[in-house]
Amino acid sequence: MAKSYGRCVTCESCGSDDGKTTEVRRVYVTPEAWDSEGSVTPVAETEQWCDACVLHYPHQSVEEAEGQSADA
Ligand SMILES: [Zn+2]
Repeated sequence: MAKSYGRCVTCESCGSDDGKTTEVRRVYVTPEAWDSEGSVTPVAETEQWCDACVLHYPHQSVEEAEGQSADA
């Protein structure tokens, strides 16, 4: 296991070190239930994800989120 942390390109979700990662916020999705509505909660901290995780898991793009406020 790699001990280095920081500038490496290891995916923080699955541990793959394919090479390219994207900065995202993980999003916790609570499924709808009979007594409650579903909810989607992005976490505050960002993570580096590989393409596969970006494709398959719920997340919020950091670039998109920041672009919204800067857009004018
Ligand atoms: Zn991954």
